[in-house]
Amino acid sequence: MNKQQQYKLQPALYLVPVPIGNLEDITIRALKTLQAAHVIASEDTRTIGSLLKNFQIIPNKLLGIFEHNEQAGAKQVVQLIQQGNSVCYASEAGTPCISDPGLILVQACIAAGLNVIPLPGAIAATTALIASGCDTQHFTFVGFPPHKKGREEWLHTICTHTETIILYEAPHRLVSTLETIAKYAPQRVMCVVRELTKLHEEFVRGIAQDVHSAFAERATIKGECVIILDRLVSRTE
Ligand code: SAM
Repeated sequence: MNKQQQYKLQPALYLVPVPIGNLEDITIRALKTLQAAHVIASEDTRTIGSLLKNFQIIPNKLLGIFEHNEQAGAKQVVQLIQQGNSVCYASEAGTPCISDPGLILVQACIAAGLNVIPLPGAIAATTALIASGCDTQHFTFVGFPPHKKGREEWLHTICTHTETIILYEAPHRLVSTLETIAKYAPQRVMCVVRELTKLHEEFVRGIAQDVHSAFAERATIKGECVIILDRLVSRTE
């Protein structure tokens, strides 16, 4: 990207989605915004560093803002924007604020009367949903199940929701989560989406008890997953 194509950005917080696997899923606007920004803050400076390198973007200034320093990072970002800087925020993968840091930054900027500019882009939840075959008219995104306390009760409750439910899960907890879903809703139509946008992208569709069996039989499960429970009404309505 040459200098003539470069943007002039107003002082603001820019929320910049980055790919969830396939590097070609970054938008032209995201690249131009990252290139023009005074500061790029990210959950993981190594990941954003290699993404920028891949697109030959040399950052003016890189900041690491993650879950455990987001409060202090928000103060710094507000000051930088008040001083006239444009600040991008990107998470490690996908869209900031969605099961990822970013909300504290957004709220701090809003409270300080600063502009927050969202860029559309890669996100696992709705990318998985649109090819799952599950109902897309009414859906609820619930993020990750709790790891320990209240986990079973939480999964039981989501199985009682009648609309389409989208949840995130780590590969090492997938089988246990599917087992609990199959216990409370064995006939629920569902889809597990794995490795979206990557070489081994996979959709496993069926009723909960069969989807659970399909994964329980595997020796190992690699890659990131989205679990989608279909809406609980007749599809012919
Ligand atoms: N902010 C991200 C987004 O916009 O989707 C989500 C970040 S969250 C920490 C990571 C979770 O997102 C993973 O555990 C998985 O559930 C889901 N995820 C991310 N990339 C994925 C992919 N390529 N395929 C399937 N699921 C993915």
